[in-house]
Order: sequence, then C-alpha cells, then structure tokens
Amino acid sequence: MKTVIISNRLPVKIIEENNEYTLIPSEGGLATGLGDVYKSGNSIWIGWPGIEVPDERQEEVTQKLAALNLYPVYLTQNEINLYYEGFSNEVLWPVFHYLVTYAHYEQSYWDCYQSVNDKFAKSAMQVLDRKDKIWIQDYQLLLLPGILREKLPNATIGFFQHIPFPSYEIFRLIPWREELLNGLIGADLIGFHTFDDVRHFISTATRLLPVNSSSNVLNSNERQIVVEAFPMGIDYDKFSGLTATEEVQKEINYFRAGKEDMKVILSIDRLDYSKGILERLKALELLLQHYPEYIGKIELFMIVVPSRDTVPKYSELRDQIDQFVGNLNARYRSMNWIPVNYFYRSFPIEVLSALYATADICLVTPMRDGMNLVSKEYVASRNNNDGVLILSEMAGASKELTDAIIVNPNNLGDIMEAIVTALKMPLAEQKLRMKAMRAIVEKFNVKHWVNNFILRLNEVKDSQKSLLT
Ligand code: UDP
Repeated sequence: MKTVIISNRLPVKIIEENNEYTLIPSEGGLATGLGDVYKSGNSIWIGWPGIEVPDERQEEVTQKLAALNLYPVYLTQNEINLYYEGFSNEVLWPVFHYLVTYAHYEQSYWDCYQSVNDKFAKSAMQVLDRKDKIWIQDYQLLLLPGILREKLPNATIGFFQHIPFPSYEIFRLIPWREELLNGLIGADLIGFHTFDDVRHFISTATRLLPVNSSSNVLNSNERQIVVEAFPMGIDYDKFSGLTATEEVQKEINYFRAGKEDMKVILSIDRLDYSKGILERLKALELLLQHYPEYIGKIELFMIVVPSRDTVPKYSELRDQIDQFVGNLNARYRSMNWIPVNYFYRSFPIEVLSALYATADICLVTPMRDGMNLVSKEYVASRNNNDGVLILSEMAGASKELTDAIIVNPNNLGDIMEAIVTALKMPLAEQKLRMKAMRAIVEKFNVKHWVNNFILRLNEVKDSQKSLLT
C-alpha cells in the first residue's frame, strides 16, 4: 500500500536549456512537509511539471521525474489558460477570498476545469492500486475526489484545501456549485486550515446537497465524510536555524549597516489582491500624516513576489502599487531616507531569513488568507524572542498566533495604531508575546500537520470499515 499525493504542481522546477531538461526539486513548505511521505517506499507525487513539454520529449521527462518519485500530468498551454488561470484563478480564487466581483464565470473555463480534473484522474489511475491512500491538494482539483471515488469505490481519499472556504452566501453564487461540492465529497476526509472554513463547508454542503450533518461529519449515501481543521505549519527548525548561518549573518550585517536607529517594518507577499498591499501602504501614509515624528525614523521593506501577472486584475494591481509607492516616496523622502523600500521580485531564502531576523515589525494584513505562512516564518526566525507581529484577523494564522497585534485589515486607522503600538512596545512585552507564538509555531510545524492529517485519514477509513461490519 502506497501513499499517492496529487496536486496541481509537482514540487520541482524544470529548466530547458540547450535542448536539455534539468530538474530542480523545489523547497516550498508543502514539498518539505510531504518529503518523508512521497520519497519513502514506493509512494509517489502526481502533478503538472510546470512547463509545456512537447509530445516527443514527454517520455524522457517522465523518466527523469520517476527518479524523484514524481509522476507527471502534461498540460497544454490552452489547458493552463482555461483550467488554471481561468477557472482556478479567475473563478475559485476570487470567490473563495470573498472578492466576488472579480470572478468571471466563463463556460469555457468550467468545461476545461472538468476535463483537466478528468485528465488528472486518468494519470492517477496509471499508478494507483486499489488499496492506496490518496491525498489530493487544493482548489485546482475539487472534482478529483469524486471522479476517483467512482473509479475506486473503496479507495482511501483525503482532500486538503489550502485557501479559505467561503460562507454559503458567497459560495452559492458559483454557477457550478453543486458539481464542485459533489466532487469534493468523494473524499473520506476533507481538511481546511481553520474551524471557520469547516463550518462554512458543512453548512454549504447541507444546504446545497442531499446530505445531512452531525457535528463535523457529513452523511451521504451511507458513506461518512469527516470534515476537520488542520492548520498548516512551517519547517520551524529550518527558519530558526538559518539565521545563525554565515550567509544569513552576512546579509544581516549588510542590512543593518547605517541603520542602527531605524525601525524596520517588513512586509512580504505574493502579488495578490487578497493580500491587502494597497491598504497597508495607505495605513503607512496615514501614520506619516498623523505621527510626523516618525518621518525619517521608520522604513517599510516591502517585497512583492511576481505572480499571475498575465491575469489582468494582477497587472492592474501591480500598476497601482507602483504608483502609490512612487507617490508616497516622492512626497515624504529626504536626501538620505525613503519611507518605502519596494521590491517587485523574489529573493533567495537567505535574504528572506535575514529580513525576518532583523525587522522590528512584521506587518501582515491580508483581506483574506487561508493560513499565511510569512507570519509563521517571521516568528520562527526571531531567536532572540523580540520583534512584533501585526496580523490580520482575516488570515487563518490569526487563530493560532493570538499574541500578535490583531487588526481588521479594512480599518486603516486600526493598522496605523497597531504600528504605533508595535513601535512603542517594551522589550519585555515583545518577548512574552513572541515566546508564546514561537512555542506554537515550533510544535504545530509542517511535519505535525502531515502526520496529523494522515493519522486522521487512517482513522476515518477504519471507522467506516467498522460501520460496515
Ligand atoms: N517566498 C518565497 N520567495 C520570496 C518571498 C516569499 O519563496 O521571495 C515564500 C515565503 O517564504 C512563504 C511563501 O512564499 O513561504 C508565501 O506563503 P503564504 O502562505 O504567506 O502566501 P501564499 O503566497 O501561499 O498565498
């Protein structure tokens, strides 16, 4: 019996150079957490390798992936446009993040979403055995549990959604709502980051489908589906350990040189309208207006990682950020100071680690976020127990990191006051709060998350079996 992970993307980057494909395993949180699972025994990870591979080269790439226990689903550019950028990122992503007016309900997106989910099922059937444990990841594959259930009625299927699940009033807007839910309930165990997501899902399913619920269990056609919260963690030891390395220390000294008295506020996000980047900038502007004594004394280090910039809403947002930062800096800067150090690029982990370790404040204010790992990475990097985390109550992480300064990201005055509170916070209080948060991030790390989910999946399957006997 093996464990089969299925996600949209494989944890690998393929680079094509001089007609030669090179594979670079990715070090993302999910890949790290699941490393022990898919690399062990004859287990396997199925997904899209991230680039379009011409038909005649697919066998060669498949061979290379097999050496890493990875199995590809090849997608065409048209499929990427309609299933991934279209349905996943222009329908599900905005609606699940409560930005319903950003959604484009295109029939062609939906048709392709169905056919690509079928394609994943077909690939999976090439490697699946009847008794395998299947763990499907995230919103690009909502139909897959249902499709696999039809093919393998007794399979053990887990599903985890990494983004929020919205309330019924939001979800019901989607034209294909029943089909999506029917896909999901093909799983035996459905996991979300927070208890609120669980509640929303159960209430949505019982209103739209002929199923009933008792506490966190859905009953449909004599099969029980358990729905539970599994807040995802990070690789705590990696982030905590990194700050002492020579490379990171070098970066730290470099940042801090000449800035001994400057208070540094850090913000790191992927470019996304759910992250509240513009609102954060507006809160900083408000602060410089209302508390001019901080002009020249604080600096926002703002990293925005390029993402989905072929989707129009994203390129619009990038332009708005460019404009706002330019305007703010032009108005407030002096000869040797600017309020916002803005980077539109990604950084190697050593630089991120140095920023996490040096920033006095980490400002995380998404309008909606399934979990938000940046907030946890900041906490894990604070080996001196100092520093202040300001965290949106709309991020899943706020349910665990209750010792952060929690803010409503729509309330700019609230964010401004939180920054001032953070700037003035006595070291003893910083340490008290940071220690408490570090204990949580250390204990509920990504390995814990993986083990807990798999353990529950086994338990749920066993209890289904005992109901039958
Ligand atoms: N990150 C990265 N390169 C960068 C900046 C950030 O790989 O230059 C990582 C960061 O360390 C974190 C992830 O991107 O692990 C962002 O995860 P989060 O849950 O905060 O947001 P998401 O992008 O998944 O919505």
